[in-house]
Amino acid sequence: MNPSLQLRLYDTLTRDKRDFVPIDPARVRMYVCGPTVYDFAHIGNARPVIVFDVLYRLLRHMYGDSHVTYVRNITDVDDKINARAARDFPGMPLNEAIRKVTEKTEAQFHADVDALACLRPTVEPRATDFVLPRADGKADMVTLIKQLIARGHAYEAGGEVLFDTTSMPDYGALSGRNLEEQQAGARVAVDAHKKHPNDFVLWKQSSADEPGWDSPWGRGRPGWHIECSAMSAAYLGDVFDIHGGGLDLIFPHHENEIAQSRCAHGTPVMANYWMHNGFLQVEGEKMSKSLGNFFTIHELLADWPGEVLRFNMLRTHYRQPIDWTVKGLEESWKTLDDWYWVVGDSIGDRISNAVLAALSDDLNTHQVITVLHGLRNKAQSGDETARNELAWSLRMLGFLRESATSWAARRQTNADVDAAKVQSLIDARTAARAARDFKESDRIRDELAAMGVVLKDSKDGTTWEIAR
Ligand code: AMP
Ligand code: ZN
Repeated sequence: MNPSLQLRLYDTLTRDKRDFVPIDPARVRMYVCGPTVYDFAHIGNARPVIVFDVLYRLLRHMYGDSHVTYVRNITDVDDKINARAARDFPGMPLNEAIRKVTEKTEAQFHADVDALACLRPTVEPRATDFVLPRADGKADMVTLIKQLIARGHAYEAGGEVLFDTTSMPDYGALSGRNLEEQQAGARVAVDAHKKHPNDFVLWKQSSADEPGWDSPWGRGRPGWHIECSAMSAAYLGDVFDIHGGGLDLIFPHHENEIAQSRCAHGTPVMANYWMHNGFLQVEGEKMSKSLGNFFTIHELLADWPGEVLRFNMLRTHYRQPIDWTVKGLEESWKTLDDWYWVVGDSIGDRISNAVLAALSDDLNTHQVITVLHGLRNKAQSGDETARNELAWSLRMLGFLRESATSWAARRQTNADVDAAKVQSLIDARTAARAARDFKESDRIRDELAAMGVVLKDSKDGTTWEIAR
């Protein structure tokens, strides 16, 4: 690669954009918090998956495919999963019902993110496999909790094990929260057994009808945060390079992961770069089920090719909020149509340095797209180097997975019809109706419907649109 290109990443912890220097360039290590598998993932969940996929691809390009380890966990122990299992499989033993819910949701998640052209991470550990000490000696949650107790960072109270936040002088550094200020202003009711309001659960008891594991503190289950401390240590070691997720995870989840990992291992940091994507909203509003603007990836894939969803996500820099709109999706689709057409059957074999430079600047995908537009224009006027670079850069970013022909054919069936042909059929239908030949007019309407064209009759005549 071009030695003048230096990757720089914004680190939420130090609040600056720094040169990325891996601990070991032969083994670059990244952890991203994965889905809680109880229901379809929504389009907001797709953002971290796509953003960190782009980073993973860039790191593989820079350090070599076999020198990057990407871990994304699957959270398969959670009270939302228990509730869903009880709702969907009443009467079935809870363990079995939970397994059904998590297996189905995990398969769906994989289908969704595969369609978004995201590479599978190197490892996708499941939380339930890391609760108890393991035969292979990899880190596990119970051992981590024991270490925290032994080092004076955790205590048992009210049947739970809690992390003692006052045992860590710089607790709160990631989110910039000051413990004392918070306590002074705390309006949150403090659970009677907590020593300090910020203390959080490492282990809690399970009732007979909740999933549980036998531990030194009785039958119970882990808190949420401890699973990522265990699984990251299991595959990436006590200190690794990059930790990512959406910015809602900064507090409390990542703050608490840091507290657990650093205090259990006695290290000054957990990860060297903390990266957080901004939030996605829909048509200017927070996405929520009650507002009726809540979209699963699965639903969107019925209307839009996965590459269109991916492209639309990358038009905005990952740290900015993104407004997800139908207009944006339509523009994204048009751009990809055009690029597929300009690239044609060129495969390409070299990535553009300008694309790499933009990616290296804290994943500036917005700038990448500007560069690609420039390459497209040059390619269109016959510059074969530009066509080569456009093709290969797009492939490196996960696009052009189809041939230009199959992409265009899909567009045809999805949206594009020959407007002149539609109009002549409409005219023929109007004539048939005028002649009271309703059999023929119905036949024409059905022919149009088969092309995906819906007719609207009014006193001013007949208009048409493409069915969605
Ligand atoms: P969750 O299942 O809620 O833990 O979310 C899984 C991932 O999706 C986390 O990294 C969240 O930060 C991220 N996420 C959830 N909602 C959104 C959203 N609306 N926009 C961007 N990222 C989100
Ligand atoms: Zn996590």
